[in-house]
Amino acid sequence: MHNVVIIGSGPAGLTAAIYTARANLAPLMIEGSQAGGQLTLTTDVENFPGFPQGIMGPQLIQDMRAQAERFGTTFQTADVTKVDLGRRPFTVTINEEETIQAQSLIISTGASANLLGLDSESRLLGHGVSTCATCDGFFFRGQPIVVIGGGDSAMEEATFLTKFASHVTIVHRRDKLRASKIMQDKAMKNDKISFHWNAMVEEVMGDDVVTGLRLRDVVTHDTATLDCKGVFVAIGHTPNTQLFRGQLDTDANGYIQTSHGTATNVPGVFAAGDVQDPHYRQAITAAGTGCMAAMDAERFLEAEG
Ligand code: NAP
Repeated sequence: MHNVVIIGSGPAGLTAAIYTARANLAPLMIEGSQAGGQLTLTTDVENFPGFPQGIMGPQLIQDMRAQAERFGTTFQTADVTKVDLGRRPFTVTINEEETIQAQSLIISTGASANLLGLDSESRLLGHGVSTCATCDGFFFRGQPIVVIGGGDSAMEEATFLTKFASHVTIVHRRDKLRASKIMQDKAMKNDKISFHWNAMVEEVMGDDVVTGLRLRDVVTHDTATLDCKGVFVAIGHTPNTQLFRGQLDTDANGYIQTSHGTATNVPGVFAAGDVQDPHYRQAITAAGTGCMAAMDAERFLEAEG
């Protein structure tokens, strides 16, 4: 029987582990097969406070994990395949066979940025391909950038990236944007942004770093190349909440709904990080809500005696 089981090992889960471990709750963290989450897919992190020279994403995660371990967090590398939140203690099934009982749960399974699914895209992720303009825009000062997508995220990222880029081209697969009118107008009025309509990305070009894109026109089927140094894929995120469907309240896009801090609709179950945050999606905000979830879980356990 565990006081606290934390599912997910990005900055939210690891911060929750540091706090619950220091509160003598001996947390168990289930790391999942992609341990460390999205930070392990990035290179330099320059906006996490405390690192004036920046820090590599995987190193930041490794340090947070060591800190959580130092105070007594136990780690188990396994995939959670089922949870039963119907009664306490909660039951967590891992690898379809072993079950774990928990008095409280912190869910920090994150969200995954949707990708196009090209081999060249995954090979150059962190080497010119990015899914986070706030994190990586700064690296492309004075360079041409492409943003892929036609939703609010694409408009927002493109507008933000004009602070750094020599020019931003939005590549969209249709000739109409999905984004809200106000965000469209803002992007269209920006003279550093242009649009490339009806185009699908066939390949991200470059050996070690991005040099451009090969695009196919979906109407004429012609191919063309577009030179750029950075490619920001902004085609939506998917919260990792499949395990909790039907047990926890989510919004229309699947993000776990929280209230009064990090409480979910099930008393004793708390959610932190991107799994409950469609807006900010930063390592530092994830860490902040991880701290909140740990304190909420501690108070819950205290109140329950
Ligand atoms: P989204 O609204 O789902 O838009 C995704 C865009 O990516 C769509 O234009 C879609 O094209 C395109 N796309 C999807 N899969 C693709 C693929 N395989 N290849 C090429 N293009 C692809 O996602 P989002 O922009 O991340 O927004 C998510 C939610 O957050 C929305 O509700 C949005 O309003 C909200 N949001 C709000 C703000 C704000 O208000 N400041 C900022 C960001 C996001 P199609 O249009 O052809 O489907």
